[in-house]
Amino acid sequence: MRTHSRKTPLAAMICAVLYLAACGHSASSTDGVPGAASPQAANFPPAPPADTTGGFDGTRAYKHVEQLVAIGPHSAGSEGIRRAQSYIIEQLKSFGCTVDEQDFHAPSTPVGDVAMKNIVVKIPSTNPNMIMYASHYDTKRLDNFVGANDGGSSTGVLLELARLLCARKNAETIWLVFFDGEEAFNSQWADPDHTYGSKELAARLALSGDLRHLKALVLVDMVGPPNPIFKRESSSTPWLTDIIWSTAARLGYGKIFVKDTNAIEDDHTSFLQRDVPATDVIDFESPVLEYWHTSRDTLDKIDPRTLAITGHVLIASLPELEKKIQ
Ligand SMILES: [Zn+2]
Repeated sequence: MRTHSRKTPLAAMICAVLYLAACGHSASSTDGVPGAASPQAANFPPAPPADTTGGFDGTRAYKHVEQLVAIGPHSAGSEGIRRAQSYIIEQLKSFGCTVDEQDFHAPSTPVGDVAMKNIVVKIPSTNPNMIMYASHYDTKRLDNFVGANDGGSSTGVLLELARLLCARKNAETIWLVFFDGEEAFNSQWADPDHTYGSKELAARLALSGDLRHLKALVLVDMVGPPNPIFKRESSSTPWLTDIIWSTAARLGYGKIFVKDTNAIEDDHTSFLQRDVPATDVIDFESPVLEYWHTSRDTLDKIDPRTLAITGHVLIASLPELEKKIQ
């Protein structure tokens, strides 16, 4: 969960209304009903062929989401998240990726000390300048919440991106990061109860001195719904957002990656706060907000075409990003 962090009173009111609308549903009658969160595929058309989306296979990404949903709820510290970790790591290794499992503890969450794990794929290059793509893979701690869109969709996209990028030589060092503990343990999002994984990694990189090599972070989150709207996140780094959004426009996705803005706190915030250029690709609009953080965030909300579009934009924007940071 994340809040709009707009500063004006009017916007704050809108934010509160959005928040209440979204959370009101979490207490709806479908919650707690056995089977309410059962995985269910929708009747969306298949993803476009990978040779039309820069090699990114939306069908493969969708299958990852399906597998993650089948695991069931996997909030930070739960039994389920260990199965999600095993799945992600096993897939990454099958792609030939080098995987660094970064275990850590969040010592003072609202539920006490929680063991967490960031999963970091490091794709080396002779150029130390680094680009990072990231997603969170934990799901919100709610009954019957499987997070097909919130947690699953972006993890599926990142896994498919790993299959492509680990198999080739890249002009810069690339890291693909699967963050644990993005979600707040409490029902409401309030500092410091959220983004445990990204705060941990940013702190580690600052401590080791490697943070100075990190030139761009592209975060994806909630990238699975049909007819998505990705607004420019206003706290993000403008030049980096420009590269992603202009690539999308060039590929014909200008009605999806729109010029409107919103303000969202997410894992990219942990890096922005340390002056790392970062941006967030996220659909945080209606109708997503009607099922966000409810047991209705199920597989039937995931459109393989949206996963493919997201992946296509990420892979197609890489050359310009590489040129920019050299
Ligand atoms: Zn969430």
